[in-house]
Amino acid sequence: MNNFVTHLECSEAGDHYNFAEINNLSKINKPLLVKYDLEKLKNSFSKEDFINDFASLPGFWKYQYLLPLSKKSSVIDLGEVITPLVRISKSNNLFIKDEGRLPTGSFKARGLALGVARAKELGIKKIAIPTNGNAGAALAAYATAAGIESFVFCPEDTPSINIREAEIQGAKTFTIDGLINDCGSIIAKHKEKEGWFDISTLKEPYRLEGKKTMGFELAEQLNWELPKNIFYPTGGGTGLIGMWKAFNELKKLNWIDCDLPKMFAIQSSSCAPIVTAFEKGKDYADPWPNAHTLASGIRVPVAVGDFLILRTIRESNGHALAVDDHEIITERDNLANRYGFLACPEGAATLAGYKKALQLGLVDANEKTVLFNCATGLKYPMPEVNNKFHDK
Ligand SMILES: *Cc1c(COP(=O)(O)O)cnc(C)c1O
Repeated sequence: MNNFVTHLECSEAGDHYNFAEINNLSKINKPLLVKYDLEKLKNSFSKEDFINDFASLPGFWKYQYLLPLSKKSSVIDLGEVITPLVRISKSNNLFIKDEGRLPTGSFKARGLALGVARAKELGIKKIAIPTNGNAGAALAAYATAAGIESFVFCPEDTPSINIREAEIQGAKTFTIDGLINDCGSIIAKHKEKEGWFDISTLKEPYRLEGKKTMGFELAEQLNWELPKNIFYPTGGGTGLIGMWKAFNELKKLNWIDCDLPKMFAIQSSSCAPIVTAFEKGKDYADPWPNAHTLASGIRVPVAVGDFLILRTIRESNGHALAVDDHEIITERDNLANRYGFLACPEGAATLAGYKKALQLGLVDANEKTVLFNCATGLKYPMPEVNNKFHDK
């Protein structure tokens, strides 16, 4: 298989690491980025080759020329699909990219699929992950399919469906009295003794490469005219950083010539470290105390890629906005009972954020805008129903 990777690079210091070796963070504990020989790729293949040459592979796997795999047999096929852009109103400008259609019902499938496939190439036998739910399920499914053992650590108040779906798909699943960063600390403490590879968000280089395929899909679906604005519910930020990486790769390849989108990071006002750092003009975020939100996927009080999220928002002329949990539920219910679209709370948060951005004049209703629904709404609690029909 053609692989255009040259090396891994520290996202802060810029020093280089060997792609052929197992890597987690850089020497200064920052995320590593996969670098490609874009000049060589541009001289070897066209944009049409990029979307056609591997079109027989399912979903995001087809973007092989900008993915880090060494052989085609590393692809783990669980029936990935190109996720649809759903138009929820008569508006021609507002779309929801519905990631709930992916295997395991969330976009965590993208990152973990690539992370596990690459781990397999590197001969890794055991993988551990801290998770608020969806990442654990995705790791479980892809690791099992690849013949790798997996270990999932989640906060004890993680939605029980997430705990059960991870366990039933083959992960040894543990609940912890603490938050996702506490789960991460437990893995860090025990990984050496247990022989686990730590596949935490941005603590290895390949989940980001999986998540960046959202950017390629958007470009292809919109005929290489990217939207003006993207609203992304931000926890660890992999998707936001990943899409920005994808857009910049496409730009350097001259495969797009439009402006790049403004990237909007949406958080819950009860866990908004990135929003606070953005507003204060800081390059790094402070840990968020007592994080709690029903949008569990974005309950991330500390993100190792905080500076990359903030850099992406600023470089793109975007913004970071916080929305309240009650606004999230209102929009979730609105989407369901007015448009027939069942979003996850994190997806609904992007609609609440979009409305806020409209009010603040940060976006215009005429601009093409994409919101992200990151998981199927079916995984989350819904209001009880107690209607009794009296058949008299
Ligand atoms: C993980 C997750 C997020 C946050 O994604 P990041 O790329 O880590 O910021 C948002 N929504 C859902 C449903 C998730 O599972």
